[in-house]
Amino acid sequence: MDLFDIFQQYKIEQNHLDARSKANNLNAKTVDNKVSIDELNSKIDNLSLVCMAMSELLEEVGFTKEAQLAKIEEIDLRDGKLDGKLHLLNVCSQCKRKSAPRHKNCLYCGTKISKSSVV
Ligand SMILES: [Zn+2]
Repeated sequence: MDLFDIFQQYKIEQNHLDARSKANNLNAKTVDNKVSIDELNSKIDNLSLVCMAMSELLEEVGFTKEAQLAKIEEIDLRDGKLDGKLHLLNVCSQCKRKSAPRHKNCLYCGTKISKSSVV
């Protein structure tokens, strides 16, 4: 074996180790994602139960399914889009403008946004 062969062999070994390390990382991420999905499914199941209980209680006190659906639609439209999604917006206590919850400060005036200002 000449020096070039030794170098090539070294590079092949390095690539092999690198590939194995990346494969292990991907396996770990897959397990993490599976755990996250299981947790989310569990939360969805719990929220579904809570929603079902609330809906049945509301019907018992006179709020029909139609009234509940109308309320859901009204809340859905608060962000301007009827899309079945809830995009809560923060209202700045200073300038009263709305911004997405991911922003810690008002985009317009920089005031720190408190979590209680969600609409
Ligand atoms: Zn502001």
